[in-house]
Amino acid sequence: MLRLEDVTIRQGDFTLHASLSVPAGARVAVIGPSGAGKSTFLGAIAGFVPVTTGRIDWDGLDLNARSPSLRPISILFQDNNLFPHLTAFQNIALGLKPSLRVNAAEQRRIAAALDRVGLSGFEGRKPAQLSGGQQSRVALARVLLRARPMVLLDEPFSALGPAMKSEMLHLVRDICAQTNATLLMVTHDVNDARAIADNTVLVADGHAAGPFPTADLLDNPPPALRDYLG
Ligand code: ADP
Ligand code: MG
Repeated sequence: MLRLEDVTIRQGDFTLHASLSVPAGARVAVIGPSGAGKSTFLGAIAGFVPVTTGRIDWDGLDLNARSPSLRPISILFQDNNLFPHLTAFQNIALGLKPSLRVNAAEQRRIAAALDRVGLSGFEGRKPAQLSGGQQSRVALARVLLRARPMVLLDEPFSALGPAMKSEMLHLVRDICAQTNATLLMVTHDVNDARAIADNTVLVADGHAAGPFPTADLLDNPPPALRDYLG
């Protein structure tokens, strides 16, 4: 279980409060107005944004005390999830070994992950030689291979068309099921939330609140969410 206990996060003049918990294995959407602090919320859990007060823990493990690379987390951002000068194979290998020195068994695991996301034969390509959807799949293959307990997604598929995005959401769901991962996914598309997340955290008015059942929240939105949904 992920727990945020009386957490305060500051980014410049901006302050976000969060006291909530997410059960292990849950898939949770994170929604709210632009600038409300969704990326800040994920950044604090991942360790890129320091918390000012409070405690973040995973199954009793104090995350505040750990640097990002030592947290049980994989995170994908909106852009720049892949290094442009590395091949698909190397970009995935990076998830296992920052040195890229992978042994034969690791090479086989990388090949299997590429196969799992439908990219066998593409291992030698650099990101510029891949479509947007293929780039997303390389990034997801790395998430699959790392098999960290928590997966954080910050609108990683918003540049994709609807059919491709739906395909990626299915892949995310399958990968999280396969690795028993807990998912927190920022999205500005409430249909994504309905499609993949039974529960949703609402980030608005300086607070991250919930998780609430997604259908209840979207069918009866509180004022801050109603204004945002229009
Ligand atoms: P969202 O992801 O919901 O659109 P963000 O978490 O990116 O919102 O931003 C929340 C607030 O924090 C915004 O008011 C933004 O201007 C501010 N902010 C974000 N990053 C920084 C930063 N590096 N330094 C100062 N303020 C920041
Ligand atoms: Mg954001």
